[in-house]
Amino acid sequence: MSEHFTGSFTQQEAIPDEGIAAALEVLRHGRLHRYNVTAGELSQAALLEQEFAAATGARFCLAVSSGGYAITTALRAVGVAHGDAVLTNAFTLAPVPGAIAAVGGRPVFVGVTEDLTIDLDDLAAKAGQARVLLLSHMRGHICDMDRLMAICDAAGIVVVEDCAHTMGGGWDGVASGRHGAVGCYSTQTYKHMNSGEGGLLITDDEDIAARAVLLSGSYMLYERHLAAPGPEVFERHKYHMPNISGRMDNLRAAILRPQLAILETQVDRWNERYARLDEGLRDTPGLHVIARPGAERFVGSSFQFLLLDWGDDDIRQVVARCAARGVELKWFGAPEPAAFTSTYGHWKYAPSDPLPESDRILRAILDMRVPLTFSEEDCALIARIIRAEVGAVHQAR
Ligand SMILES: *Cc1c(COP(=O)(O)O)cnc(C)c1O
Repeated sequence: MSEHFTGSFTQQEAIPDEGIAAALEVLRHGRLHRYNVTAGELSQAALLEQEFAAATGARFCLAVSSGGYAITTALRAVGVAHGDAVLTNAFTLAPVPGAIAAVGGRPVFVGVTEDLTIDLDDLAAKAGQARVLLLSHMRGHICDMDRLMAICDAAGIVVVEDCAHTMGGGWDGVASGRHGAVGCYSTQTYKHMNSGEGGLLITDDEDIAARAVLLSGSYMLYERHLAAPGPEVFERHKYHMPNISGRMDNLRAAILRPQLAILETQVDRWNERYARLDEGLRDTPGLHVIARPGAERFVGSSFQFLLLDWGDDDIRQVVARCAARGVELKWFGAPEPAAFTSTYGHWKYAPSDPLPESDRILRAILDMRVPLTFSEEDCALIARIIRAEVGAVHQAR
């Protein structure tokens, strides 16, 4: 009898008890708005910002309503204006080109490599086309950040990092989000800390930090922040920044603080699961696992592999056969966008020149979530199922 997996690919762990207790306390006193504090009280949102800045080594941090909001705020704060071109990844999630569109920008897509990172040769070739790069560490794959920063520094390009999938990760000992001018994170349910919706933004630049706080809707109460620059910096910007409300509330911040305290442990747990999938799928004929460089501290909260140069129907068969055994794979080559999966060709509001080398990779990507509710044994079982089904279809090709 063939094995079947019965777990849920969308079920995350419960909020830690400490987070539940802290949330109840906020609900009991009722001061959910981040600026609603009693004399001498520090808000949960301000404390979360202080702790996240300390965890990443950044000078400043701002908590906001979503990851997408963090990115649009970062783009505004670095000066992207209507009609400006913004370089970004062809392989990313819809909120990334969406954030560029939200500020009236025009995405210029940069290709993807077989390692699922941004194609640095393509980036170098397009460096003259924009003064900002919105770099998405899509699915947690971190490119050679030293080379990327050298290309961008030489071309005078400001880098904004989308770290939705690399919170807790890093490159060569530097936390992800600390190479560029701004790092943006999501605390939406499917990311590395879960507050339903939410986002964080970090920077070392005091002007960017002050602009971001004002943009997020601080009602001139910016002195209630703990991880923000001094009032003299706000003086330079307070008459020039529109209020585009997108603050984080104290309830979400209360839930997140205990999760930040255990983030390192969670990263290790994700990577134990990732290792079981990787071991189980290595050397499967026809299947290409993604190389992970030694300098990359990744977070294995999702797993990708490639079926390079396979026909569409064969890939569809693999997806269907795995689904029949309880293993949910997402295919980035599908002609229609499905759930969270879409690619640059689907974003018709942001037309792009074709990227044939990237199309070959995108068509080959199979993707799955690895929630921490999966055990290591679950991951070994999932790998056995994929290996068997890829093997069966591959043999018949
Ligand atoms: C989730 C996600 C975002 C945006 O986060 P939201 O909190 O959903 O707005 C941005 N980029 C990537 C790659 C994501 O996965």
